[in-house]
Amino acid sequence: MKRPRWRPAPLLLGSACCHLLCVPALILWPRHWPWPVAALLIDHLLLAGAGLWPRSQTLGTNWTRLPTPQAVAITIDDGPDPEVTPLVLDILHRHRAHATFFCIGERARRHPELIAAIMAAGHAVESHSQRHRLDFSLLGPVRMAREIDEAQHTLARLSGQTPLFFRAPAGLRNPWLDPLLSARGLLLASWTRRGYDTREVSAERVTARLLHRLRGGDILLLHDGNAARTAQGTPVIVAVLPRVLDELARSGLETVTLRSQLE
Ligand SMILES: [Zn+2]
Repeated sequence: MKRPRWRPAPLLLGSACCHLLCVPALILWPRHWPWPVAALLIDHLLLAGAGLWPRSQTLGTNWTRLPTPQAVAITIDDGPDPEVTPLVLDILHRHRAHATFFCIGERARRHPELIAAIMAAGHAVESHSQRHRLDFSLLGPVRMAREIDEAQHTLARLSGQTPLFFRAPAGLRNPWLDPLLSARGLLLASWTRRGYDTREVSAERVTARLLHRLRGGDILLLHDGNAARTAQGTPVIVAVLPRVLDELARSGLETVTLRSQLE
């Protein structure tokens, strides 16, 4: 795949200009410090706000929908999980559906047989970082690059395919991420809709959130790792996925992997 040349997003360009103007101003006219300090503060608040909004495009390219509206992508995060992933694979098989698994490198390393099973069933494995650090969005470029590169190495070795998509842990990021992904030919992917199935125990509510205004081109987010349990102890994704796939079939929408949209 042709590696796209990195272009800074408008917000990043604006931030660079802000620093180029404000830092010299602080040195040259120290008595007027409140103005440049206020400008820098606003700039950093804007950057932080954009990083806290998983679906934002202001820090760089971010897939929130598929480029073509004929299909829907089911994306499944935080696995592989030895209990839940096999159940999910079984449901996908029975519905003849395809999914994209955003796997955590360290979990993949502990369960290589699950990565093999995902690939053998015709699904895609993409990167959800090596450790899924909760402070990922606070990392500097060196440690963030390490999280990305270790996951690329682990997942490529286990799946036989280099990941083409990256999803930030919890969807949170900072301005370093976009140039790091671009340099590695990786695309950031978030989602159109999520069901909050790591903390919502009601399969009905998760299903309703995912299917609300469902249409072609949607990217749906579910979790096989860190899955919440229903009152009966069933992983929420296991209760939700058959209903979502039934509704997709009723709507005449096929399921595709994200990478199939690049071909
Ligand atoms: Zn995650």
